[in-house]
Amino acid sequence: MSKLRFRVVESAFEKKASEVTPPAVKASEYYGELVFNREKMFKYLPEKAFEKLVETIDNGAPLDRETANAVAAGMKKWAMEKGVTHYTHWFHPLTEGTAEKHDAFIEHDGKGGVIEEFEGKLLIQQEPDASSFPNGGIRNTFEARGYSAWDPSSPAFIVGDTLCIPTVFIAYTGESLDYKAPLLKALEAVNKAAVDVCHYFNPDVKKVYAYLGWEQEYFLVDEGLYAARPDLLMTGRTLMGHESSKNQQLEDHYFGAIPTRVLEFMKELEIEALKLGIPVKTRHNEVAPNQFELAPIFEECNLANDHNLLIMALMRKISRKHGFRVLLHEKPFKGVNGSGKHNNWSLGTDTGILLMGPGKTPEDNLRFVTFIVNVLKAVYTHNALLKASISSATNAHRLGANEAPPAIISSFLGSQLSQVLEHLENSDTEDFQLAGKQGMKLDIARIPELLIDNTDRNRTSPFAFTGNRFEFRAVGSQANCASAMLVLNAAVAEQLTIFKAEVDEKIAAGKEKFAAIIEVLRKDIKECKAIHFDGNGYSDEWKAEAARRGLDCETSVPLIFDAYLRDRSVAMFESTGVMNRKELEARNEVKWETYTKKIQIEARVLGDLAMNHIIPMATKYQSSLIDNVYKMKDLFPADKAAHLSSKNMEIIEDIANRTIFIKEKVDEMVNARKVANKIESEREKAIAYHDQIVPMMEAIRYHIDKLELVVDDQMWTLPKYRELLFIR
Ligand code: ADP
Ligand code: MG
Repeated sequence: MSKLRFRVVESAFEKKASEVTPPAVKASEYYGELVFNREKMFKYLPEKAFEKLVETIDNGAPLDRETANAVAAGMKKWAMEKGVTHYTHWFHPLTEGTAEKHDAFIEHDGKGGVIEEFEGKLLIQQEPDASSFPNGGIRNTFEARGYSAWDPSSPAFIVGDTLCIPTVFIAYTGESLDYKAPLLKALEAVNKAAVDVCHYFNPDVKKVYAYLGWEQEYFLVDEGLYAARPDLLMTGRTLMGHESSKNQQLEDHYFGAIPTRVLEFMKELEIEALKLGIPVKTRHNEVAPNQFELAPIFEECNLANDHNLLIMALMRKISRKHGFRVLLHEKPFKGVNGSGKHNNWSLGTDTGILLMGPGKTPEDNLRFVTFIVNVLKAVYTHNALLKASISSATNAHRLGANEAPPAIISSFLGSQLSQVLEHLENSDTEDFQLAGKQGMKLDIARIPELLIDNTDRNRTSPFAFTGNRFEFRAVGSQANCASAMLVLNAAVAEQLTIFKAEVDEKIAAGKEKFAAIIEVLRKDIKECKAIHFDGNGYSDEWKAEAARRGLDCETSVPLIFDAYLRDRSVAMFESTGVMNRKELEARNEVKWETYTKKIQIEARVLGDLAMNHIIPMATKYQSSLIDNVYKMKDLFPADKAAHLSSKNMEIIEDIANRTIFIKEKVDEMVNARKVANKIESEREKAIAYHDQIVPMMEAIRYHIDKLELVVDDQMWTLPKYRELLFIR
C-alpha cells in the first residue's frame, strides 16, 4: 500500500466514534421542537390569524395581507426566542437539491440603528436572484425575474440560526421553475378527482390526501478515504475500482449489526430529524457493505417530500461530524447493489379511509377495487412517462442491473388481488345488473377475511402492491421524489376523471350506479392487463414479453425523456392543470442538459485520473519489472534468464497494451466530446453523450480495473473497494 494511502486508511480506522448522547428526554418531548407547527401557531398567533391560517392550510383559502403580517410576526417571535437571526425562502429548483438565500431580520430603524423586522410580504414572496438556476430557457437574465412564494401547507422550520420557509419557485410569467409547484397542482388534481369518485361510495368525503412514505438508502464512506478518491469527490461515484474479493456474496450485511461509528451517526441524524418533525422510524443495514436505510412513518405527500429533501441535507451535514461522507448516488460502486428510494404511495380520505386498502363491506371493497384498477390503468397509460420521471444519468446505473427494477414499468399485485381482478373481469355482467348490495355476487366481500397479502413481496417489480399502498421502487436515491410523485398523482387524477365520466354516462343511460362502476372496471381491467406482471422482472423473458405487450422498453435515458413531450402526456398534464407544453419543453431542456453535464464531468474526471494516476502508476511498476528483467540477464545465462523472466515479460507487455489502449481511448473520448459539444440541440447532444461517451468510459474503466489487479499495491495511489467498503 502506498504511504499516502496507508496513512489515509490508518487514520480512518483509528478514528473513534464521537459519542452522541441522546437528549435525556423522550423523543415525544422534543419531536417538532424546531417546527412552526399548529401548537406553535396557536401559541404565537392571535386567534383570528390562527383560524385563518388553518383554513388556508386545510382548504387552500387565500390569505389576506393582515393575516400574513400577523403570521410573520408570530413566526419571528417564536424564531427569535430560539436564537434565530436570519430567514430564508427554501425552494427546490430543478437541480435535485434545495436552494436558499439567507437574509437577516434586521432593518433600519430610521434613527441610525436597526430593528428586527419580518413582515408578511417577506413571508409571502421573495425574488431570489435566481437567474442561474436551470430553467430550460423559460427565463434568462434578460427576462422577468422569478419569485418564490410561501407554501403554507408545509410548516416553517429552523436550521441553525435560520428560519426556513418552504416555498414554490415560479417565473413571473407563471411557469413553474421547481418541483414543488407542479407537485402541489398534481396533489390538488388527484384530491378533486378522487373525492368525486369517493362520492359514489361515501358522500361525506371532502378531501383526499396522497400519502408518501419514502425509504432512503445510502452509503457511508470514511472521509479520509473519500478525500483520496477524486472521482467520488467530483461525481459521487467511483469511476474505477476492481471488485473487492468479498463484498455482498455472503449476504452478511443485510439487517446485520450496525457498526458503532455508524450507529452514532444514525442516532444523531434521528434526533435532529425528530426535532424537525420528521417522524423517522426505521433504520437498518442494507444489502451492500456500508449501505444503510432510513425510513419515516408516511405523511401527506408534499410534506413527506419536503422532509425527504431535508433529511438528505441533514445526512450530508451530520455525516461529516462523524468522519463520514454520505453517498446518495444511485450506484457509487460497481458490482454491489446501488441505492434507491422506494416511494410508498397511497390515497386516503379525510374520513380516515385508506383507499388502496380493502374494507369490511362489499361497498368498501368495490371502492377498493375501483381505486386499484384506476391506478393500474393510469400506470399502464403513462408507463413510459413514469419511467421518464425516475430516469437520470445516475439512476441509469441502477435500473436493470439485477438488483433494482428493470427499465420497464409493470405492476406486481400478488396472488389474492390478481384473483379478485380476474374474477371481476370474467364474471357475468348479469350478476351485477341486479344492483344494490345484495346484487353484488362479486365475492369482493371476502377480501377482508383474506387479508390482502403483503408477504409474497416481489423485489423485482418497479410498482408493487403491498397491502394498502403501492410501492414505486424505481425512484433513485438522490432524486427529488416530487418528480415521480407529480407524474403519478397527475396520471391517477386524469384516469379517475375519465373513469367518472364513463360511469356517469352509463348512469345517465339508466344503469344502476354499482353496475355501471363494475362495467367500466371490467373494461379497464381488460385494457390495462399488459401492466400487470407478477413474475421475475430481472429475467430476459420478461424483457421480450414486455416488448410484445407494448410496454415501453427504451433504455437510453435521453430518449426516455421524450415521453414527457408525447401528445398523450401533454394532454394529461394540461387537463389536470399540472403543467403546460411550454413548461414541459423547458423542463426537458433542463433534463437533457443535466444529463450531458453529468456525463461530461465524469468523462473529464476519468480522463484526468487515467492520465495522471493510472498510467504513471502502471508505467512505474512496469519500469521496475523491466529493471528486474535486465538484472536477471546479468545474473543468469541468457536461456535461463529468459525463462525466469517470462512471467514478468508477460506483465510488462500486458501493462503496455493496456496503457496504450487507455491513452488512445482517452484521446478519442476528448475528441468525441469536442464534436458532441458543438451540437446545438440539447436532446441530440445528450444522445451523443449517451451513445458515444458512456461506452468509451466503460472501455477505459475495464482496462484500469485490470491494471489495479497487477500493479504493485504499494504504488497504487487510490483507495480500493476493499478499503472503501468496509467500515471498521
Ligand atoms: P418495507 O418492508 O418495504 O421496508 P415498511 O413497513 O418499512 O416497508 O414501510 C415502508 C414505508 O411505507 C414507511 O415509510 C411506511 O410508513 C410507509 N407506508 C405504510 N403504509 C403506507 C400507506 N398506506 N401509504 C403510504 N405509505 C405507507
Ligand atoms: Mg419497501
